Amino acid sequence: MNRREFTRLMGLSGVSLAAGKILPGIRLPFNTRNERHMKQWAWIGTDVNSSPDDWKRRFAVMRESGIDAILPEIYNSRQAFYRSSHLPTGQPWLETIIPLAKEAGLEVHGWMWTMPCNIDEIVDKHPEWFVVNRLGESSTVKPAYVKYYKFLCPSRPEVWEFVGKTVSELSQIDGLTGVHLDYVRYPDVILPIGLQPRYNIVQDREYPQYDYCYCDVCRDSFKKESGIDPMKLGDPSESEAWKEFRYKRITHLVNDVLLPIAHKGGKKMTAAVFPNWKDVRQQWSQWKLDGFLPMLYAAYYNGGVDWIAKKTGEEVKSQRYGAPVYSGLSVGQLSPEEIAEAVRLTSKAGGSGVSLFSAQAMSEKKWASLKSAIELLKKG
Ligand SMILES: [Zn+2]
Repeated sequence: MNRREFTRLMGLSGVSLAAGKILPGIRLPFNTRNERHMKQWAWIGTDVNSSPDDWKRRFAVMRESGIDAILPEIYNSRQAFYRSSHLPTGQPWLETIIPLAKEAGLEVHGWMWTMPCNIDEIVDKHPEWFVVNRLGESSTVKPAYVKYYKFLCPSRPEVWEFVGKTVSELSQIDGLTGVHLDYVRYPDVILPIGLQPRYNIVQDREYPQYDYCYCDVCRDSFKKESGIDPMKLGDPSESEAWKEFRYKRITHLVNDVLLPIAHKGGKKMTAAVFPNWKDVRQQWSQWKLDGFLPMLYAAYYNGGVDWIAKKTGEEVKSQRYGAPVYSGLSVGQLSPEEIAEAVRLTSKAGGSGVSLFSAQAMSEKKWASLKSAIELLKKG
């Protein structure tokens, strides 16, 4: 019996089987490293100024270097770069590049920001949709760290509908393989250790100005569940129930609202996620997505390539539904040799490939190094 027949007979997805999650204790003959389906990705920041010929050339380089799928940033919390009927729109960049990428043999996954919303009209009309910190300040008035940290509250059905509309529009676009969620989380209650000096702050514990969401809907729902008003917790970071409550708000949005919309449209769904997931209340090990691209930007965590490999291994093991994990590399932080080493070590750790942040940050030397590393992997 080959893998496909086995999968069909069991009525199970290949992804679940590959991770051995559904039949614990049974060793499946095809669950070997060589049969893991490898895929290499590249995020592409919004660029509406390059010509179709520029993209043709760049896509050829990407494909030639071993990239299988691209993630163009087509919604950045302010403007959509596809023909949206509910968001402010710029040029329909996505529609321009889909046929060019497909011609080059690349999958296209639309990269959208999820929870931040910097559309003035929404901020003005629906300020109550936005998260509130433990000082009672709305992120529309006092966003944490940077001006664009205006996050929507994941407890509100109006917010599910708003974000769901974007996913729904993308899910109807021909030629698009998947929808890729970014910023699908709360604001960072604690920034990665390597980033704190950049903002001149020390976060040795959870401080109230960075701790969300204490809006009326969240407070009321938690009170109903637990009998406790979270605003009255002495040290909210000590309350596992309050943390769980917030993990579940995001997990519900992903698993029960957004994923079914994408799948109904025949699209895959993936997400860019955090290694320090607790600090952004993003329990992605419990999400049912088709793949995860953790942003393993080592320098932000005072780590190197070894750290990237170690995190990849932990994240692969932690997946409840066994989805593939593709290690996100901040290629500006890595030398060509380190990129090659990251490809090799993350694969050894159980990762299904890497994702480059970003295509624009790659140099000729880095593309060449990536290419030989991927070729080596393919040879086994
Ligand atoms: Zn809230």
